[in-house]
Amino acid sequence: MTDKDSTVRPDRRAELAAGLARVRTRIADACAAAGRDRDTVTMIAVTKTYPVDDVLALAGLGVHDLGENRDQEAAGKAAEVAAAGVRPRWHFVGQLQRNKCRSVVRYADVVHSVDRVRLVGALATASAAARDRPLDVLLQVSIDADPDRGGAVPDSADPDTGLGPVAEAVAAAPALRLTGLMAVAPLGWAPERAFSRLAEVAAAFRADHPEATALSAGMSGDLEIAIAHGATQVRVGSALLGMRPTLR
Ligand SMILES: *Cc1c(COP(=O)(O)O)cnc(C)c1O
Repeated sequence: MTDKDSTVRPDRRAELAAGLARVRTRIADACAAAGRDRDTVTMIAVTKTYPVDDVLALAGLGVHDLGENRDQEAAGKAAEVAAAGVRPRWHFVGQLQRNKCRSVVRYADVVHSVDRVRLVGALATASAAARDRPLDVLLQVSIDADPDRGGAVPDSADPDTGLGPVAEAVAAAPALRLTGLMAVAPLGWAPERAFSRLAEVAAAFRADHPEATALSAGMSGDLEIAIAHGATQVRVGSALLGMRPTLR
């Protein structure tokens, strides 16, 4: 236990431990139902809006993968966590702006949200300048093919937002490593429909990029359905930490 860790109230620590146990059981049950090994699915704890004390408590409970969606919040938290002597794997899961790339590559181990060719150049340049090994990248896919809502569009030849062009740009950048796809079920879509469509996109994608086997899909409300459709990483916030005060 670190000094920081000991500042977590015991009742909060117990609450987080209970949430973690519930989520781990859900993941194990979903894997069993899908006939998959439990160790094919990684849980990422999405800690946005929650304090560093919660992050350290989760790390103390054995959570190694942590996610954040805003650079400003994430950069500060990652620095505090590192200062406490804890070395998690940080996943940046939020929308990424070109002017944030230089900051994000300093603490993130994985970026889940690359969805435009124009972003790839900035991320590759920043990664090459600040890191001694490539940055793992997942491409965010638009399941409903609405480019206004973010996500690269499958079966589109658009030179900026088509999934093929974005993948080729990442694959051609030595400072980036293409590891797979990420998606969020679109509003108004049943998760079953969204994740079965995503599974089709992922299968076609792997034919061209066989090394890119990661599939980041599923959150607190729909992780079982995502696992049934092949998710290898689930991003879980509220089911672990409680409801966030503000929606974002
Ligand atoms: C907040 C967030 C999550 C976690 O959502 P919950 O519903 O709280 O589990 C997952 N993915 C992304 C991209 C997020 O921004």
